[in-house]
Amino acid sequence: MDFSSFNFEPSLQEGLDAMGYEQPTPIQEKAIPVILENKDLIACAQTGTGKTAAFILPVLNKISKSGTGKLDTLVLAPTRELAIQIDQQIQGFSYFLGVSSIPIYGGGDGIVWEQQKKALETGAEIVVATPGRLIALLAGGKIDLSSLNHLILDEADRMMDMGFSDDILKIVNYLPKDRQTILFSATMPSKIRQFSMKILNKPEEISIAIGKTAEGVTQSMFSVHDGQKEELVRHILSQKQYEAVIIFCSTKEKVKGLYKVLRKQFEIEAFHSDLEQVDREKIMSAFKNKAVKILIGTDIISRGIDVVGIELVINFDTPSDPEDYVHRVGRTARADKEGEAITFVNQKDQQKFARIEKLIGMEITRNPMPEGFEPGPVYLGEKSKSGHGGGNHSGGFKKKGNSNNSGKKKKFPPRQKAEGSQSSPNTSSNPPAEKPKAKSSEPQTSNTESSKPSKYGQRKNVID
Ligand code: AMP
Repeated sequence: MDFSSFNFEPSLQEGLDAMGYEQPTPIQEKAIPVILENKDLIACAQTGTGKTAAFILPVLNKISKSGTGKLDTLVLAPTRELAIQIDQQIQGFSYFLGVSSIPIYGGGDGIVWEQQKKALETGAEIVVATPGRLIALLAGGKIDLSSLNHLILDEADRMMDMGFSDDILKIVNYLPKDRQTILFSATMPSKIRQFSMKILNKPEEISIAIGKTAEGVTQSMFSVHDGQKEELVRHILSQKQYEAVIIFCSTKEKVKGLYKVLRKQFEIEAFHSDLEQVDREKIMSAFKNKAVKILIGTDIISRGIDVVGIELVINFDTPSDPEDYVHRVGRTARADKEGEAITFVNQKDQQKFARIEKLIGMEITRNPMPEGFEPGPVYLGEKSKSGHGGGNHSGGFKKKGNSNNSGKKKKFPPRQKAEGSQSSPNTSSNPPAEKPKAKSSEPQTSNTESSKPSKYGQRKNVID
């Protein structure tokens, strides 16, 4: 199947050609016809599957055919980063269409607020907004949603997690009843279904391989003591001149701590909720342009942010929620490109890791510790006693067979960057866009697949 079977308007097809889109992804194949038929839709698709284009393309096609120039479509997204991201994709597709969009999000300074209000006065067919800021505009009478034809909720599960349900319901009260409503979510817990019944009308349902990490991601793990993690991450980053790496930590304090250690050696930036919006944007843009090669952050960057060509994701801490693992790993191997994901698992996180393997339905390659490292804890998976051991073992770098540590130098490649030459991140306070702590999630599958050799260990597995 190719895009021509959707019979898009020639100028939209031109936009697709310009962006190098040849074939629709599975979610696009399924969702686009339903949206073109004006039906409500619940779509379950994880990030990296091409979900943004799946909802934007049919809407753009409809606007370009019969748009009135009035506000036609509202896209709600959980974070400003995702809102900006979606807006940028819309601008790319609509280059030849003359359809305009405005991103509306909180957290910026007064200038951004004024720019957003001005842009709204000028008018646009599409608004991409975070719920909180939109409520503020609605309350001030700054935006009129009465002409709306489409409401799209992106990352609905994330919006629920962040406590936006009431805001969304308030926003829906401002919308015409005969609109088309489209809900995209990476996961489909029952609370999303219940919520969708309040705002959708006889929706069609589509689901794309929930719980599976993106195709083409080579996944592996190291069973480590906490004291070994820093040295191990340096070792991995020194193996190759990576162009784009994301390292995930469980808390922003850990992000800041690891940043201090790694900045002495690598081109690195820290991304967390204490940063001002303007600094977040600067960092993200430097990372996208490959001026910054390594980004370290919390789950705030794990969803929705689309940076093409990420080679490696390192989970410095095992994610608590198996679905967060899928989102983190979804940062790499975007749209059929290959990528790699390495997870550090300390003893107390072994059960968490076992739950991840259940969710994704495969065994992740166990890497032996690299030469020169002491062995990590024995991996017992589900049988391990969670909360025991792991954290306090010094476990740092030590030459094997050299227990008295006789002063021999470590065999690491030369440092890539002079100490202290990296600017420090702005850590001034800003309202957090950080996700509340992960909740529980149901393991869905338990079948395991076998693995092949990896460059860190003996085996490698590519999900297919
Ligand atoms: P998303 O899941 O919407 O975040 O999209 C992931 C990435 O895939 C983005 O970089 C998109 O530009 C890209 N993408 C989406 N659909 C296609 C397609 N049909 N062909 C090529 N790239 C695509």
